[in-house]
Amino acid sequence: GREIHLKSRPHGEPTPDNFEFVTVTVPEPAEGQVLVRNHFMSVDPYMRGRMNDAKSYVPPFKLGEVMDGGAVGQVLRSRSPDFKEGDFVVGTGGWREYTVAPAKHYQKADPSVGPLSAYLGVLGMPGMTAYVGLLDLGRPKAGDTVFVSAAAGAVGGVVGQIARIKGCRVVGSVGSDAKVKHLRDDLKFDAGLNYKSAPIAESLAKACPDGIDVYFDNVGGDHLEAAIGLMNNHGRIVLCGSISGYNATTPAPGPRNLFLAVGKRLTLQGFIVMDHGDRRADFLRDVGQWLREGKVSDVATVVDGLDQAPGAFIGLLRGDNTGKMLVRLAKD
Ligand code: NDP
Repeated sequence: GREIHLKSRPHGEPTPDNFEFVTVTVPEPAEGQVLVRNHFMSVDPYMRGRMNDAKSYVPPFKLGEVMDGGAVGQVLRSRSPDFKEGDFVVGTGGWREYTVAPAKHYQKADPSVGPLSAYLGVLGMPGMTAYVGLLDLGRPKAGDTVFVSAAAGAVGGVVGQIARIKGCRVVGSVGSDAKVKHLRDDLKFDAGLNYKSAPIAESLAKACPDGIDVYFDNVGGDHLEAAIGLMNNHGRIVLCGSISGYNATTPAPGPRNLFLAVGKRLTLQGFIVMDHGDRRADFLRDVGQWLREGKVSDVATVVDGLDQAPGAFIGLLRGDNTGKMLVRLAKD
């Protein structure tokens, strides 16, 4: 099997040189382990942080070792009572074609709820991030204006669709006119804006005539500052990510208007999805139902083959994706 190792740490934007392809002999699973053939692997923004040698909520990738990450696949051999051959599973498969890992690293992926790839997107970590962040931290009420940035992405697209289900007016920001069209036509947002074609503070003010009640922040920087300026009293800002700064080589200045949070009595709250495992059953029940009813759609940009994984990851950070960015490793 082939796998991808971290060869060097990027300075700024990652480059193909940071990655190394290695062919390994796949070991037999030991007692308690499973051998999984990966069908799809995930590239995610948080992986950029793990390429740096810096302390964070997940440890850095190690040089010369396989890059870790979410994957879905099929069990080829099992030495655990939890799974049998042929089961579909989701877990930390990593950037590789085959994974041997403890069964406890995996959960079953039920193909009757949604396609296997959805377990890395709307039915997986990004979908759960949207669900927990919006509902538990954002606490939207019907009639609220909800603004979400990186709105055509894996997390943002689900945030907007759930906010619509909850009766909110939904505004999203994205980096292209094609994505604005996608927000409006496919995801049924009320308004979309392209932050590259006009200053975000101006276009956001136009799109939110009644102010903002919930801002789901995936971007940070100028987006966060613009949202703070438009928040209504007692508004909630869900601090989910800050992708505008992930490739930065020096820290970006904070929002210059943070003091407005005082007078507006805002709540700004950060969260990490993996702390909210107790919500997984609720998440799968609700989002699974919305998916079946067609109220939430499963959107992905899929590239083929392990060879494409570094490019998919670099492209993700540039906005090449609509919906979840995935790498397909096997077709059957
Ligand atoms: P996305 O699918 O949204 O992909 C990233 C998107 O970010 C790109 O498509 C691009 O879209 C946008 N982007 C890139 N650079 C910039 C920029 N400078 N300014 C504005 N937008 C930019 O990724 P995910 O849905 O997986 O993740 C979205 C966010 O959620 C990230 O910040 C991530 O770190 C965070 N996250 C947090 C979790 C948590 O537990 N707190 C868990 C999972 C994700 P465009 O073309 O619109 O620019």
